[in-house]
Amino acid sequence: MFTDKESFKKVFSESLVGELGTPLEEATSADVYKVLSGLIREYAGRDWAATNREYQQRGEKQVYYFSMEFLIGRLLGNNLLNLGILDIVREGLQELGWNLEDIEEQESDAGLGNGGLGRLAACFMDSLASLQYAGHGCGIRYKYGLFEQKIIDGDQVELPDYWLQKGNEWEVRRADKKVEVRFWGKVEAREENGRWIFETKDYESVMAVPYDVPVIGYGHHHVNTLRLWSAESAMLSSSKGMASRHYDYYNFLNYNRSVESISEFLYPDDSQYEGKLLRLKQQYFLCSAGLQSILRTFEKLGLSYDHLPEKVSLHINDTHPTLIIPELMRILVDVKGYSWEQAWDITVRTVSYTNHTILSEALEKWPTGMVRDLLPRVYMIIEEINRRFCSMLHEQNPDDQERIDRLAIIGSDQVRMAHLAIAGSHSVNGVAALHTDILKKKEMRPFYELYPERFNNKTNGITHRRWLMHANPGLAELINESIGSDWITEPRKLIDIHKFSEDKGFQDRLHSIKQQNKLKLAAYIQEKNGVSVDPNSIFDVQVKRLHGYKRQLLNVLHIMHLYNQIKANPSLDRVPRTFIFGAKAAPSYYLAKRIIKLINVVADTVNHDPDVGGKLKVVFLENYSVSLAEKIIPAANISEQISTASKEASGTGNMKFMMNGALTIGTLDGANVEMHEMLGDENMFIFGLKSDQVFDYYQYGGYDARGIYAGDPRIHQVLDQLIQEGPFCTSPREFETIYDSILNHNDEYFVLKDFAPYVNTQLEIEASYRNQTEWLKKSIINIAHSGKFASDCTIEQYANEIWRINPVRQMSMN
Ligand SMILES: *Cc1c(COP(=O)(O)O)cnc(C)c1O
Repeated sequence: MFTDKESFKKVFSESLVGELGTPLEEATSADVYKVLSGLIREYAGRDWAATNREYQQRGEKQVYYFSMEFLIGRLLGNNLLNLGILDIVREGLQELGWNLEDIEEQESDAGLGNGGLGRLAACFMDSLASLQYAGHGCGIRYKYGLFEQKIIDGDQVELPDYWLQKGNEWEVRRADKKVEVRFWGKVEAREENGRWIFETKDYESVMAVPYDVPVIGYGHHHVNTLRLWSAESAMLSSSKGMASRHYDYYNFLNYNRSVESISEFLYPDDSQYEGKLLRLKQQYFLCSAGLQSILRTFEKLGLSYDHLPEKVSLHINDTHPTLIIPELMRILVDVKGYSWEQAWDITVRTVSYTNHTILSEALEKWPTGMVRDLLPRVYMIIEEINRRFCSMLHEQNPDDQERIDRLAIIGSDQVRMAHLAIAGSHSVNGVAALHTDILKKKEMRPFYELYPERFNNKTNGITHRRWLMHANPGLAELINESIGSDWITEPRKLIDIHKFSEDKGFQDRLHSIKQQNKLKLAAYIQEKNGVSVDPNSIFDVQVKRLHGYKRQLLNVLHIMHLYNQIKANPSLDRVPRTFIFGAKAAPSYYLAKRIIKLINVVADTVNHDPDVGGKLKVVFLENYSVSLAEKIIPAANISEQISTASKEASGTGNMKFMMNGALTIGTLDGANVEMHEMLGDENMFIFGLKSDQVFDYYQYGGYDARGIYAGDPRIHQVLDQLIQEGPFCTSPREFETIYDSILNHNDEYFVLKDFAPYVNTQLEIEASYRNQTEWLKKSIINIAHSGKFASDCTIEQYANEIWRINPVRQMSMN
C-alpha cells in the first residue's frame, strides 16, 4: 500500500481527494482524520486477515478476555506506533500541511469504561497482540460511553457521551456473525429416552451483532480482535426470533426500545454495585453472545467438547461476566448432552477469574427473583451449582451450618457472584501482592482454605507503548539514545538507565523534557481553565475517579491548610506548587460531588488571592479521560496515591506516573507496596496507616475522629472552614455533608488520622525538590524500575500460569 513517506503522501492524497471530491487544500482536520484512520485500518486489514487465517490453520488455544468495560481511548496514534509507520505518516502529513497531533485530536476518546478496571482490559489487549498471543477481547459496544463531565459553577454536570456521532473508522460490523440471545420465558421439563429435556418457551429474542475492532500488535504484523456486541431487534433481522408475546404494533415499538436499551449506555458507577435489571441484561447479553460466537469457532476444529479447555480460555474481568459459568453449563448439559459432572469439569477448567476489589459495596449480589424471571433456565443451573456446592461443604463439615450459609452461592435471596465465580473457575487472582494477600487471609479466607491451589497474584500493569512511547515521546527518545531500544520489546531493560541516575547530561535532558511537558500542560490549563500556572512550580497531581477511599479530601484539606499558613504569614518561604485534579464522580454519589465542588471553590479562592502570590495554584481539569491522562501524566512531578491502606486493590495510575518520572507520595496500599519494595524510602514518599492498622481499627474500634479534630488546631481550622462563612464558604454549612462524613460518621477513611503524617511528608517533598540534582536522580531511578509494571510482564504471567498458552510465532521485527 505504502512503504515510505513519498508513497504514503501519494496514497493518502488520492484517498482524500477520492473520498471528499474536493481539492486537498479544502480538507478539514476532521476530513483528514477520517480518511487517514480508514486508510490505516485497511493497511492493517491484511495482517488482520492473515492472523485470523493462521489461527484457523494452526488451531492454537485462544484466550477470550470478557469485560464489561474496555477503556481504550484514542487509537490512531497508537496504531501508527505499533504498525511502525508513525514517522512516515507524521512527516508525510507535515509536508502536506497538517500536524499529526491536531489530527489525533479529532478522534473521539472511546470511553467504554469507568476507570482502572476498563483501562486494564485495554492495556491487556495491547500486550496480548504485541506479544503475539492468541488473545481477544469480548465486550459491549455501548452507544454512549462514560458521561462527559462539565464543571459549571464548580459543580459536576454530566452530558451524554455520544462517541459514535462522527462514525467509528476502526470498527467493522459483522452482521454475518450475529447470534440470538434469549430472555424471560418459562422452562418446561420433560423426560425423553431416560433424559431430562429442558426447554424455554415464550422467551424474548434479541439479536447480538458484533463489531470487530483490530488490536494491532507492536512491530510484528500480529492483529487480534476486540469484539464488541450491539443489541438489535430480532424482528427486523428474522421472523424466526419473533416470540408470541409481541403481537401488536405498540408492543413492537416497546420491544424495539427495550432491545436497543441493552447496549445503549455504560453504567457510570465505579467500585459500586447497582442491582438494576438492565445491568443484569447487559451482563447476560455479553456472556451469551460472546460464548456462542466462541463455541462456533471452536466447533470448526471438529473436536468434542472434552477438548474445550485445551483450546479455549475464558477469562472474566471481575464478577460482571460471571454468568459465563452457568451459561456454559447450560449449553453443555442442555444442548450438547453432557452429564452434569463432565460439564462442570470442562467449565471449571476453561474459566478463570480476576477479583478487583474488597470494597463490600462493590460486591455483586443479584436478587434471586430477578435472575429467575429474566433467565429462568440459567437460574435453575445456578441453583443446582449451589446445591452441589453446599452438599460438598456439608460432607466436609456436617456440623458447621454457619460456614455453609456463609459460603453458599445463594443466600439471603441473593446470588453472590464472587462465590459463583470462585466455585466455577480454576484460577482466582488478585491484582497486587497486598490485595491477593488480603483475599487469602481475610476477605476470601474460607474459599482459600477450600481451594488453595486456585488463588494466585497477578500484579496489574500498563502498556509502555501508550503511556511512555506515545504519551511522552521526548522521554522515549532520551532512553533510546542512552541504552538503545531493546526496552521497547523487553520493558524490564528500562533498568539499564539506572546507571545514568547521577549522570549530569542525562539529568539535564530529563529536566528539560519534563519542563517542556509542563509548558504544554500549562498552555492547556490556560486555554481550558483560564488560569496561568508557573511551569517552575511543583506539579502535584491527583487524577483518578472520585471516591471516598481514594481520599481526594485529604489532598484538598492539606491545600486549605497551606492557604491558611500563607495567609497567616504571607512571607512564608515555600516552593511554589500547582495542585492539579481530574476526577469524575458517579452521578448518584453525592458526597463525591461535594468534594468536586470543594476543590473548585478552593481553587477559586486560592488562585485569586493576591496574598498567595505565585506560591499556590489549584486546577481542576474537567472530563478526566484517557486522552487527558496522556496530556497530564508526562507533566507531573508528584503523583498522589493516597488511598486508605487496604482499599485500593492495585491502582494503575500510580504506575503511569512512575514510568513518566514523577515521584510518588503514597500509602502502603495496592501496588504502591511493590513500588516501594524496589524504590526504598529514598525514592518514594510513604506515609500513613498501614493496612493491618486499618483492619485493627475496623475490628477492635478505638478510632476517634473528634479527638483528633479537638487536638490539632490545623485540622480544627480547616474543618470549621467547611461550614462557616469565610474563604471557602459563601453561605454557612455549604460543605456540611463533608464535615458530617468526618465528624459525625467517624471518618470512615481515616482522613484525619493520616493528616499530620501527610503534611509532614509534603514538607519533605518540598525540601527534596529544592535539591534538583537529588530530585532528578530519584526520578531516573523511578523510571528505571517501572519496567516491572509494564503490562507485557503481567500478560506473560497470565499466559504462563493461568491460560497456559505460548506466543503464536516469533517473527523478527520489521
Ligand atoms: C489509569 C486510569 C485510571 C485508573 O487510575 P487509578 O489512579 O489507578 O485509579 C482511571 N481513569 C483513566 C482515564 C486512566 O487512564
